[in-house]
Amino acid sequence: MSAIVAYRRRSGWRESDAAFVGRAATHHQCSISVRSPIGNRDDDDLDRPRGGVPDRRRRGFVLRTSDRWVGGVIRDRWPRGTAPVRQDSTVTQRSGSPQSGTGAATAPESPENIGTVAVVGRGRLGSVLVEALQGGGLVVSGPHGRGYSGEREDAIVLLCVPDAAITSAAALICKGPLVGHCSGATGLASIAPHRGFSIHPVMTFTARTGPAALTDTPAAVAGTDGPALDVARSLAVRLGMRPFTVAEPDRPAYHAATAMAANFLVTLESAAGTLIRTAGVDPKVLLPLAHAALDNWGEQGAAALTGPVSRGDQGVVKSHRQALTGRTPELLPMFDALVAATQRLAQSRIDKTRFTVGTRTMLVVNTVSALRRALKAHGARSIGFVPTMGALHQGHLELLRRAREDNDLVVLSVFVNPAQFNDPADLAAYPRTDAQDRAHAETAGVDIYFAPTADVVYPPTFTATVALAGPIVQTFEGAHRGSGHFHGVTTVVTKLLMMIRPDRAYFGQKDAQQLRVVQALVADLDIEVQIVPVPTVREPDGLAMSSRNVRLTPESRSMALGLHQALVTGRAAFELGETAESIVASAARILDDYSIVPEYLAVVDGNDFRQILGKPAGRAVLIVAAMVGRIRLIDNVVLQ
Ligand code: AMP
Repeated sequence: MSAIVAYRRRSGWRESDAAFVGRAATHHQCSISVRSPIGNRDDDDLDRPRGGVPDRRRRGFVLRTSDRWVGGVIRDRWPRGTAPVRQDSTVTQRSGSPQSGTGAATAPESPENIGTVAVVGRGRLGSVLVEALQGGGLVVSGPHGRGYSGEREDAIVLLCVPDAAITSAAALICKGPLVGHCSGATGLASIAPHRGFSIHPVMTFTARTGPAALTDTPAAVAGTDGPALDVARSLAVRLGMRPFTVAEPDRPAYHAATAMAANFLVTLESAAGTLIRTAGVDPKVLLPLAHAALDNWGEQGAAALTGPVSRGDQGVVKSHRQALTGRTPELLPMFDALVAATQRLAQSRIDKTRFTVGTRTMLVVNTVSALRRALKAHGARSIGFVPTMGALHQGHLELLRRAREDNDLVVLSVFVNPAQFNDPADLAAYPRTDAQDRAHAETAGVDIYFAPTADVVYPPTFTATVALAGPIVQTFEGAHRGSGHFHGVTTVVTKLLMMIRPDRAYFGQKDAQQLRVVQALVADLDIEVQIVPVPTVREPDGLAMSSRNVRLTPESRSMALGLHQALVTGRAAFELGETAESIVASAARILDDYSIVPEYLAVVDGNDFRQILGKPAGRAVLIVAAMVGRIRLIDNVVLQ
């Protein structure tokens, strides 16, 4: 056997180096020709092409003199797989001339001084690590069987054995070397009384995994002390991995997260595969989608969440559930748990929503003059305006999304308008979440966030009222919240439209009567703005999103579902051709089931909000308002 060794050292060439090379030749049973005894490149350059990826086809070794390391690479002249892998002899010594033999070993003093690494465990991970450590230029012995007790020259014994076998394998190791293990779940107490470390590649290993899988893989490292931790870090780097530290108390949480990210993902994909197979479709069609979803999560976090649950599309979620009930009922508990978890995630994502638009800078203004300056400075071709009272939720964000889609500039107003509250206690209790609202607004692509105080909108000199007349402002909300309610709405909306002069203003169908009032307002006053109605955004269970929902107790939250259920039942009656009276009666029965006493429940003409009796004709809306616990909620469904 023969091999050519390209051999360099960092500086200078010593007599003793020749002895080491000679020793390496004996050890590797090859002849060595020294190509370049003096050089100034880093040892790693020899076995790492530029770019830092180790070339696994080469066999590396590192020789150590009394005061420095020298390294080399044996260009593999042997047929693949038969190149010598040292099992039990010595290439390095802590000092003096090389010797071999067994006895007490000594742990490395610093990460630079990593000596022989003995790998224990002949499983997949053990073999992969032996190959990878050699590729990283380290002197490696093994993989040894689990009964290995350590050799004199071992600086590190790395246990690549099942978690349950770590303690017993560590107990066999003689005193001296650092003992490492590769488990994520097992604490360092398992290697006591040794000093040592753990190094856990955040990667799954299958029968087909090779050392290349380690390259660029993050690795969790921990140490019984600082130097041991440094050695673990250094080993990880030599293996081409990216080390990060996990403290012992955090280990279970860290490992649970890796199990969720990898193992549970397989469970999830298998479940999806089972279901799609019932439709006669090969589960493999899901792969590109799964990859894309993961990539998106990597880039955007929770903002990557898409789909019916996060959209609040309750109808689709329901149809999914029905499909599972019929075809794979065993998957229902998992499905329900995931719907609930996804729902919570969709609710909580503040920093990154699916409405993120580039990296615009949002301007926050509080006065009318600052607002006008901002509008002028922008010189937008089209302005979209979304008036709100804050405590923003997905319903508001849907309005903003539409505004962002349609316009050059988006202005959001956040103003809890005292003029439209008939009950001072209700005004005082109205949720105010300014910081959160700003975060939502910014990620929703708002350009100008206008949050005036009450005295900016209603200075002491203010006396005007903009008031519509007729049933549209007197019935239902007008009747129950008092005539002042809609006067307060029309006054503030007129003021805001005058301040901003938008091309389009966005209002939710959720407040159906308010929407009609605003449409009538701009028609009556010839205000040049397009009022854009936006359908109601609902929670997955159907509850209409509202700023007030956060004030619902868990009991009243369940009770509140009755509103939507009643509307759905009413619409079903309408679709069967029932009269307004029986539509209302069937909806009322559901409210009763939920112990909800409505303030009003009626089928109304969608134009003027007069109550309809008999068979609904033209635009008809089923509307409801009720105190649910201590919170007043309203909702509606358009019948036609
Ligand atoms: P508010 O902050 O409650 O005054 O609402 C501001 C705007 O958002 C109004 O046009 C509401 O109709 C609209 N809005 C509130 N909740 C929803 C919802 N769940 N879906 C769609 N629009 C909504």
